[in-house]
Amino acid sequence: LIETQMENHLRTPNISDHPCFNGAVHGKKGRLHLPISPACNIQCRFCRRDCNSKELRPGVAKGILPIEEAVDIVGKALELCPEITVVGIAGPGDALASFHAVEAFQQVHKAYPHLIKCLSTNGLALPGKADLLYDLGVRTVTVTVNAVDPWSASKVVSHILWEGKVYRGEEAGRILLAHQLRGIQQASQRGIVVKVNTVLIPTINDHCIGDIARTVKKAGATVHNIIPLIPQHELKDIPAPTCEQINKARSDGEVYLKQFRHCQHCRADACGIIGKEDLSAKLYGGRRMET
Ligand code: SF4
Ligand code: SF4
Repeated sequence: LIETQMENHLRTPNISDHPCFNGAVHGKKGRLHLPISPACNIQCRFCRRDCNSKELRPGVAKGILPIEEAVDIVGKALELCPEITVVGIAGPGDALASFHAVEAFQQVHKAYPHLIKCLSTNGLALPGKADLLYDLGVRTVTVTVNAVDPWSASKVVSHILWEGKVYRGEEAGRILLAHQLRGIQQASQRGIVVKVNTVLIPTINDHCIGDIARTVKKAGATVHNIIPLIPQHELKDIPAPTCEQINKARSDGEVYLKQFRHCQHCRADACGIIGKEDLSAKLYGGRRMET
C-alpha cells in the first residue's frame, strides 16, 4: 500500500484516465463529485438547485461539503471505489462563484496529486484562472454555453452578478458570452481540455446549436455535450426535447465538434463508475451536512 501511495505521488494527472473524455476507460474508471460550491453568480431560468438524496440530476446533492472534509471524503471514496481517477467539482452552485472549489482542490491535489481534477462552470469567472487551475491539477474543464447571441442568452439567463453589479437581459448575455469565450481560450491554451455543455431548450436555442459549436470550437473547446432540458423553474412549461430533437441538435453540433453522447447528468455528489451503482448514499450516509 505504501509503495502504491508513493507511486501515486510521483504521477501527474493524465487525461486518458478520465471516463468522460476517453471512451476506452468508460465503464472502467470512476469519478467523484465533491458538492462543495454553495453559490452561483448567475441565474439560469431552468435551474432549481436542491439538497436531497433522491433526485438524479445536476444541481442536486445531499448537502454542502465543508472544505476541510474534502480530503477525507476523497479517501473514503477511493476505499469504496479504487477505480476513481477523477475528482470533479460541479456544484451544486457554480464552481468559480466562491473560493470553495479552489481551496478544496488545493488540499485534494496535495493529498492526491495523481487524480485528475475536473471543474464545471458557467464560465463567468473563468478568465484569468487558467494557470491557477492547471497548478491545482485541473486537466479538464466543462463550460456550459447555452447561447451565443444576446437574445437567446437573455431567454436562458435571467441575470448575472459581476463585480458587485447585477446585469439583466441582453447586456447580461453579452458579458457572459465574452467571459465564457475568453475563459475557454485561456484554459485551452494552458493545456486544459475544454468540453462545452449545452442545455438543449426547444424554441430558445434549438435553432443555434451549430452556431454554438462553431463559436466555442474557435475559442478552443474540443468536445460538445448536448443535454436535454429538464423543464423546471421559469422554464417548467417548455417541454423537454424529444429524441429526434436531441439527435438533430447533435448532428448540427457534430459539423464542428466531436459530440459526447454518454452523459448521465450526474448529481453534484455522484461517486463511482458511471452507469454502475451510485455510491454517494454510502459515502455520505450518516454524515450531517449543511443544506
Ligand atoms: Fe444553476 Fe449552473 Fe445556471 Fe448557476 S450556472 S444557475 S448552478 S445551472
Ligand atoms: Fe461525466 Fe456527464 Fe457525469 Fe459529468 S455529468 S461526470 S460528464 S457522465
